Amino acid sequence: RSWRVDLKSLIRTIPDFPKPGIQFRDITTLLIDGRGFAAAVDALVEMARPHGADLIAGIEARGFIFSAPVARALGAGLLPVRKPGKLPGPRIGVDYALEYGTDRLEIHEGACLPGHRVLLVDDLIATGGTALATVSLLRQAGAEVPAALFVIDLPELGGAALLKQAGVEAASLMSFE
Ligand code: 5GP
Repeated sequence: RSWRVDLKSLIRTIPDFPKPGIQFRDITTLLIDGRGFAAAVDALVEMARPHGADLIAGIEARGFIFSAPVARALGAGLLPVRKPGKLPGPRIGVDYALEYGTDRLEIHEGACLPGHRVLLVDDLIATGGTALATVSLLRQAGAEVPAALFVIDLPELGGAALLKQAGVEAASLMSFE
């Protein structure tokens, strides 16, 4: 497709959500724009293609929106990385620190295997806590994680730099300072 879409202009910024002082970058204004959504998915697909992934890992919940069409376009499998209590079968998980407290992400045991090449897709990277936890979970399963792709990067929060230090190429469609 040859549409020229200014993707960044389709992101809405909501001040003080979910709490005072946070500028929330809202992707739903991009999603409801048909050309914008298609252009974002197409761009992620072209960034993912050279990595020859077996699986695309999508992080619950906004990551699912982008990871599924990317996996479909590449003919790769889709690996949902889920919050606790969602997966029915035997699972492995990783606990990670939040600003207050901890959270956990899980995948089914055997969902990815040693030697699988898995690419991570999420809507946004901030501190990198979520992405790094997912990388460690996938590596625990024996997978290789060559790259992680995001719609939005907030570079001042340092997540993309941490991923690179961990040996994962990080790329995004846009950034907000
Ligand atoms: P991190 O773990 O890198 O600090 O935060 C990234 C995770 O939090 C992502 O899964 C993302 O969905 C969510 N997130 C944090 N801030 C924002 C935001 O401003 N907009 C959106 N859409 N997601 C956010």
